[in-house]
Amino acid sequence: MTRFVDLGDISDLETGDIIRHKMGADAFVVTACHGGTATAVRTQDVSNPNEWQVLKSDVVTLAPIPMLIWCPECGKRHIDRGKWAEKPHHTHACQHCGNVWRPAIQCTVGVRFLPGFEDKPA
Ligand SMILES: [Zn+2]
Ligand SMILES: [Zn+2]
Repeated sequence: MTRFVDLGDISDLETGDIIRHKMGADAFVVTACHGGTATAVRTQDVSNPNEWQVLKSDVVTLAPIPMLIWCPECGKRHIDRGKWAEKPHHTHACQHCGNVWRPAIQCTVGVRFLPGFEDKPA
């Protein structure tokens, strides 16, 4: 799913981003970025970030997917703790053998129990 969000800074734009002016429905494709200014098709100069929105994929802001993860090298459980439990990451490093691997394309987090299956203390 995609939606327009407010553009924070011109330097956040990349070639190929789809942007639209807050005052108009027309969407523009960014064809060039040069520091503080970007060019979108129809030679639209983008210089005031407060006037623009950028089309972002919701995937970027999604929380990591909770997964039961085992190290493919040594077979030990991989459970993300502390900051790694909060921080979305693609690659995981085994705490037992040091192996680094990517269990899925999306960001994942190794959990002890999948959501809804945790034994809550009574
Ligand atoms: Zn391992
Ligand atoms: Zn991890």
